[in-house]
Amino acid sequence: MKSHNQQIDLPELRERGTTLFIKREDELHKHISGNKFRKLKYNLIRAKKEGHSTLLTFGGAFSNHILATARAGHENGIGTIGIIRGEELRKNWKDNPTLQLAAKFGMRFHFVSRDEYRRKSTAKFLRSLQIDFGDFYLLPEGGTNTLAIKGCEEILTENDADFDIVCCAVGTGGTLAGLINSASRGQSVWGYPALKGDFLKEDIRTFAIKDNWQLMTNYHFGGYAKMNRELIDFINNFNDRTGIALDPIYTGKMLYGILDQAKKGFFSEGTRILAIHTGGLQGIKGMNLVLKKKKLPLLNI
Ligand SMILES: *Cc1c(COP(=O)(O)O)cnc(C)c1O
Repeated sequence: MKSHNQQIDLPELRERGTTLFIKREDELHKHISGNKFRKLKYNLIRAKKEGHSTLLTFGGAFSNHILATARAGHENGIGTIGIIRGEELRKNWKDNPTLQLAAKFGMRFHFVSRDEYRRKSTAKFLRSLQIDFGDFYLLPEGGTNTLAIKGCEEILTENDADFDIVCCAVGTGGTLAGLINSASRGQSVWGYPALKGDFLKEDIRTFAIKDNWQLMTNYHFGGYAKMNRELIDFINNFNDRTGIALDPIYTGKMLYGILDQAKKGFFSEGTRILAIHTGGLQGIKGMNLVLKKKKLPLLNI
């Protein structure tokens, strides 16, 4: 499956001779957005081949991966279980648009404390899940494993070979690793982490086979799912100017970064950039509930 590249024509790019295209992976599927579609593809094939009737995975209340897994299970006749961070959600998960939709697609939830959630990859915790739920195919948090990287290697096609730089938002780094592996010769891959921390580089190195990449670590806005008025204004303004919606956790931060770098002269004259729109728009509804509570402006949908 291929998504199309859309040119972004803005004065701050034009003035400096920078060409920017956005790969619209967000349009691949209504519910299984962007990179989560790529990450699930070969895992679904494997799960079916091994005869599993249930997928089990982990995530927070707004997780794109949780909703993607729920929907993919629904479409493939496989049951899904979501281990959700935050015990308080046991009572009020119905107020959360992401979880509501995941439940509609048949996902069963198991809510755990933040402490328990931190221990989710230990053998002891996984054994307890097997006792509770029986056999399942395990998808790690964010869906990142070797088969997910294989799927993400299909984002770039031969038509993308003449871009100088490929940009992508980074959570676990799985998507970036796929882009790194499939980038053409001479192409650089730039990752924009949505969270603070130095562990990412090591994680990416376990999956990436080349060293044509770097991380731009100045654009996390304070950490994962952290946002401020400047970011929200940027996303709404970008939407007004281009007609493209961005999510506040990943793609909004990446594009803020790219345009900031363009203004600061990071790109030499004539540079051709391809930014991957990894999706995530389903989370905006829920994010707006949070923004409203914080008395911040809301994101336009
Ligand atoms: C999950 C996600 C990412 C991060 O992908 P990783 O492979 O975990 O780095 C980026 N953008 C969106 C919209 C996502 O949902």
